[in-house]
Amino acid sequence: MRSKILRCPACDSYTLKEICPNCGTATRGTRPARFSPEDRYGKYRRALAQETS
Ligand SMILES: [Zn+2]
Repeated sequence: MRSKILRCPACDSYTLKEICPNCGTATRGTRPARFSPEDRYGKYRRALAQETS
């Protein structure tokens, strides 16, 4: 399957839309699992935690 999963950086939800249906924030594309996405998202999560806290 090649569905394009997008993720909202604000409320951390996954969607297929370019705009988050929950909060209206522009979503970001996710990458295939071959590039260790957990590390990348961990980086984003830390950055987001600082912004939202
Ligand atoms: Zn959202």
